[in-house]
Amino acid sequence: MVELKNVSVTYSNGVDALHDVSLRINDGEFAFVVGESGAGKSTLIKLLLKEITPTSGRITVNGFNLEKLKKNKAHKLRRTIGFVFQDFKLINTMNVYDNVAFVLRSIDAPVKYIRNRVPYVISLVGLKDKAKCYPNELSGGEQQRVALARALVNDPQLIIADEPTGNLDPKTSLEIVELLKGINECGTTVMMVTHEHELVRHFGGRTITIKEGRITFDDYIG
Ligand code: ADP
Repeated sequence: MVELKNVSVTYSNGVDALHDVSLRINDGEFAFVVGESGAGKSTLIKLLLKEITPTSGRITVNGFNLEKLKKNKAHKLRRTIGFVFQDFKLINTMNVYDNVAFVLRSIDAPVKYIRNRVPYVISLVGLKDKAKCYPNELSGGEQQRVALARALVNDPQLIIADEPTGNLDPKTSLEIVELLKGINECGTTVMMVTHEHELVRHFGGRTITIKEGRITFDDYIG
């Protein structure tokens, strides 16, 4: 669950990146967050990961009150969130299996669990036959599927996808959003940030529009 109450962010240069933003995304929801460049989308994401703190207002993410959460405990919050980036951010020297397993290894998950969980999520995203491939042997869509598997592997409560289709052609973009929808139907909350209005209109559903740091629309479309 994500909740912001009257949240404002003013950067040190005086820019009001977010102004009195209140919103709530319940567990199990799928929400698009739409806005042009400079609207405040990245600022919103940074707040949710506690990479920055708000100038005012309160934020709760997956049961963590971010005001009370100490900086050195922020990793506990981040472990409940799976993150998908526009540019995939895969490790080019590792194959698909290791890119996904890396997440679990870095939190010292039991080897047996890793051996079961990693192939499971890789097949979930449709890449069973590509587990031994390296990122440069994969298409953009396939690389984004690996990134989705990586985001999913630790069974997060929330997936934040930041412009996940920004580097993909329209057909592949639809496939990636469909995959995110499928993940959501299995119970994971999904927040997908995008500026592609076409894609949002195609799928419909909860759509939150940010303009110049303010929420100008928050409703169901389509
Ligand atoms: P978006 O992700 O929607 O493109 P951002 O959240 O990155 O928007 O930016 C919102 C506003 O805040 C913009 O005017 C941007 O220039 C400004 N901004 C973003 N990051 C910083 C920063 N670290 N310091 C100062 N201003 C910033």
